[in-house]
This record gives sequence, structure tokens and C-alpha cells, in this order.
Amino acid sequence: MAKIGINIATGSLQQAEMIVGIDLGTTNSLVAIIHPETKLPTALREFDGSSIVPSVVHFDAYGNVQVGEQAKPYLESDPKNTIFSAKRLMGKSYKDIQTHQDFFAYKVIDDNTESLVKVQVGNKFYSPIELSSYILEELKKRAEHILKTPVTKAVITVPAYFNDAQRQATRDAGKLAGLDVLRIINEPTAASLAYGLGLDPAEEKTIAVYDLGGGTFDISILKISNGVFEVLSTNGDTYLGGDDLDRAIIEYWLKQFAIDNLDQHIELKQQLRLAAEQAKIALSTKDVFETKFGGETISITKQVFENLIHPIVQKTINCCTNAMRDAGLKAIDINTVLMVGGSTRVPLVKQTVATFFNQPVNDSVNPDEVVALGAAVQADILAGNNVSMLLLDVTPLSLGIETMGGLMDVLLPRNSKIPTQAGRQYTTQKDAQSGINIAVFQGERDLVKDNRKLGEFTLKGIPSMPAGLPKVEVTFLINADGILQVKAKELRSGVTQSIDIKPQYGLTDDEVEQRLLDSITHAKSDIAMRALVVASTEAAQLLAVTEKFLAKNAVILTQAELLETAGAMQALQLAITMEDKDLIQTKTEELNDISRPFAERAMDQAISGALKGKDIQQI
Ligand code: AMP
Repeated sequence: MAKIGINIATGSLQQAEMIVGIDLGTTNSLVAIIHPETKLPTALREFDGSSIVPSVVHFDAYGNVQVGEQAKPYLESDPKNTIFSAKRLMGKSYKDIQTHQDFFAYKVIDDNTESLVKVQVGNKFYSPIELSSYILEELKKRAEHILKTPVTKAVITVPAYFNDAQRQATRDAGKLAGLDVLRIINEPTAASLAYGLGLDPAEEKTIAVYDLGGGTFDISILKISNGVFEVLSTNGDTYLGGDDLDRAIIEYWLKQFAIDNLDQHIELKQQLRLAAEQAKIALSTKDVFETKFGGETISITKQVFENLIHPIVQKTINCCTNAMRDAGLKAIDINTVLMVGGSTRVPLVKQTVATFFNQPVNDSVNPDEVVALGAAVQADILAGNNVSMLLLDVTPLSLGIETMGGLMDVLLPRNSKIPTQAGRQYTTQKDAQSGINIAVFQGERDLVKDNRKLGEFTLKGIPSMPAGLPKVEVTFLINADGILQVKAKELRSGVTQSIDIKPQYGLTDDEVEQRLLDSITHAKSDIAMRALVVASTEAAQLLAVTEKFLAKNAVILTQAELLETAGAMQALQLAITMEDKDLIQTKTEELNDISRPFAERAMDQAISGALKGKDIQQI
């Protein structure tokens, strides 16, 4: 039943509680809704017109927490107690971020490099989830203040590259802030929704979403048809954005105007950083920028600026090339290019992207708000106001389980559309085996040791059966948030076991990229290794079976036959130790050739024995 309330501030009637869309950004965050009257996605604004809350959290000596614009000045004056970019730490271990440790001015704890990071402020420790929850709490408070109604339900966006752990961490942060997170969606997917793409079910389009924010870059290729959004591929760089453009200007000024190292002068450093950002923003519309610094005039022209940032922009184009390659598309296949993130206001960025995709870019929606606006559109779909739409995303890396000999058996190939499900049957290797271990891995390599382990569990209680008889069905289910559930069921007995994968630490974009590259460079050696593992596993099985056979049936063999078999077994064992695939195969064949007649003889004996038995019984 729909609830109806009255807005006590305005006296107007209110519908059931609104679901808000939240862009929880690395640098800035904001909330949007579908306006109840205009039905248009709208960013929530304070009286001063501001919609953006800087993603900055400051803790004072008394434990008071300030978030957003009020916390921002402390970035320079009290850096140890002021947390920015908490999003970069979501679902990460210290090991994941240690190469970027210098980036964080606050203390990121490194005592256990494998487990999730914590941030130390004074004598207190905060998880990235708690830190993000402060930002979400502030957004919730703001939304409630503006809407004059409680806000408890939200759709939150995350970068397309976020893995399970990072999505789960974002969900947990929402919960901690008192929000019921109805859906986690990818930022580029949200952006395309904000552009109203896919609202007409007859529309068929392939679009590129180019998202260059303050500190991160993402490119996604989406396909829209029948009101369905499908992410064909994603690529990006988590340490590339507007901050790099600012830094390029700072470095230029330091050199050009022989400014001394400012490391000891926090205020001057901050002043120069702000001036650089001002210059960058001004140069989006002007040809020259000039300001005073330390009594001197410093300046930069648009031409110089563009020369400085050319390599940075080129880096984003390399990512675009990769994304297009993964999607199997050429520029001519792209119908629309959407610009997202404040840094896409830089004219050189627009021009370079337009040249790459060979068409003008689409930048009509405010690039700072577009993601939150799209989240609001998704929230509206979830509220049941737009039922014709569905969202599909993709898995960035293949998912599978470990099988005999440490091989990776892929159940869901990379770039599988989610939500999705896949299953495969396995069996036991030993007689009366009561448990089977399911180890789940993510990656493109043939051996699990080269991939990343996500989790493992044991299916216990399999009733006693000969090897090969139990049927264990393993199912992978990825829900719409991209969270993986792995289930194993023994079909004859019905015993079932499952886990939700919430990995302890995540992969950086670079690592995802590296894993893909590794899978290509190692393709040949991986194939050879797989062949060796398969041959060794088969050989080991034959040795085990032969040994078992000999223990039972030695009496039906002559001494010479026993010696010959032992020799062949020894030769095969040696071939396995030498890891020589061809030799293993030859020696397996030889042992098979020797032992096959014995098995037949044993069978004959057993049958005649059985018949004799019958005869006797029958008499
Ligand atoms: P976002 O993370 O999407 O909020 O983007 C923030 C980044 O956009 C910051 O690096 C800003 O300096 C940058 N930005 C905002 N406006 C402009 C502009 N007009 N020209 C260039 N960069 C801008």
C-alpha cells in the first residue's frame, strides 16, 4: 500500500518515500532525485545553489567530524586528520595501495599488508567503509533537509572497475549511514541513463562513456537495445584525472618562475595548487591566465597548457583503444560519445576524444552531476515507475574453480553479462570421498596459482560412493550488484553448500590490466603447462589404479609380468618427476599396454568365479 504524507514545511502532499540516487565520488559526491512534478532528474541543491559535497572528512581533537566544504580547508592546514579519496581505499589491502602510499597525506596502516586497510586519525582507527559512511550520512542529512522528508533508500554508483569487495564495501558504507542500498550501479551506466538513452525501447545504440574526473578515468562501451543496457567493455586508470592537469601546471610554474621547493610552506603550496586549478578552469574558455604569487606575476597560455597535458590526454586515449578492442568495435560503430566528469570541460580533452571516435562528443548534461542524475533515473526504475528497463553489466575478469592439478576451469568467461548464472558438473577422484573442495579464482591464466583466489569452501557429507560416481554441480550466480554466490550440490544425495564471495582485498585497475596482458604473453607457455598437468594427472591416476590392482590381483600375474609392470610404473613415475609431457604420454601408453591384458584376465577370472559360484549355489 502506498504511503501518503504531508510535507509540514510546504503543506504539500507527498508520495511514498523517495529513492535517491547518489554519486559517491572520489573527489566530490552528490544526491539527485526524479523531480516529483517535472519528472526530470534533478540534483539536490542547497539555498546557495551548490549541489556538490567534497568527499573530504575532517576529525578535530575532540572527535568531532566535519564533512564536505567545511572539511576541505583542513586538507592543507591539518592533513593528518583530514581524509580525502577514501573511495580509493574501499575494499583494498595495504599491499594493493602501497605503491601509491605517497598520495595519501594521512596515515594508512601497514601492519597487516594482506587484510583490509585502516586509516589512523589520532589514536583512533577508521575503515574506508566508516569514512565513506560519514560522507553518505552527510548526503542523507542534506537530502532530508532539502526534501523535508526522511531518506532511507538509495541507489549508489561505483566505477565500472569496482570488484566484488569494493561493491560490497560501498553497500556496507550505505548501511552504516542508515541507507538501504537498493542497487549499486556502474557510473557510466548511470551517465547514459541521465542522457535518456534507452528510454525508447525501439532505440538501438552503441555508446562510449568517457569519464575524466578529479582523480580517476573510466571509459565504457555500452550497447542499448530494447530498453536493455549492456556494458560491452570497460577500461580506465584509477590514478589519472584533473589533479594531474593541476600538477602539470604547478611543475611548469615551479620551473618557469624559479619558485623554490614549497614542501615546508604548506600555505604557499596550497595557494599555488588553487591557482593551478583556477588556471586550468580559466583556460577552458580563455587563451591566457595570469595571477599573483608571492608578489610576482605568474602566467600560462592555453598553448603551453595543451602541450603540457598532451601526454596525459593521450593516456586516456590508450585506454579507449583497449576498450574498443575488447568490445570488438571500430569508431564507426559508436553512435554517441558521452562526456562525464569535470575534466571533460577542457577543450583539448573534447577535441582529442572527438578525433578518436571520429565524431562530435555529447556534453549537454552537466558533467559533474550526470552520474547522480542517472542514479536517480535508476532509482525511479526500481521504484517501479519505469518498468521497461533493465541493466546489464559485465565481469572484468574470468571466474572459475580449481580442478585437478591446479588447473583453472572457467565457468564465467571475462566480459560475461551480469546478472548471470553458470553451472558445471564435477565428480570425486577417490573412492568414498566424503568432501570436495571448491576454490574460486578470478583471472585469465590456465593455472590457478597465477590467478587471484576469491574464496574457498568444502562440500561435506557426500555419501560413500566409488570415485567418479557422485555428481557435484557447481553453480556461479552473479547478482545485479556484481556480487558472486558460489553453490555446490551433490545431485544424488542433495547435500548443498554455498558461499557469497566477499574477497579480503581487491585488484587495482593496473593489476586487472596486467593480468590480461599476462594471459596473452603467457598463452603459449600456459597451453604447454596445461598439457603437462593433464598428462601428469592422468599418469598419476593410472599409477594409483595399477597399484590398487596389483595389491588385489598379484596372484594372477607371473613373476616376469610383475617385474615388467613394476619397471613400467617406475619409468612413468620418473617421467612425471622430470615434467616431460611427451615422455609421460609415452610411458603412460606403455604401462597401459602392459596392464590392459592383466585387467582383462582379472575380469575373466572374476566372471568365471562368479559363474562357478552361481553354479554351486544353484546345485
Ligand atoms: P569530478 O571528479 O567529476 O567532480 O571532476 C572534478 C575535476 O574537474 C577537478 O579536477 C576540477 O578541477 C575539474 N574541473 C571542473 N571544472 C572544470 C573546467 N571548467 N575546466 C577544466 N577542469 C574542470
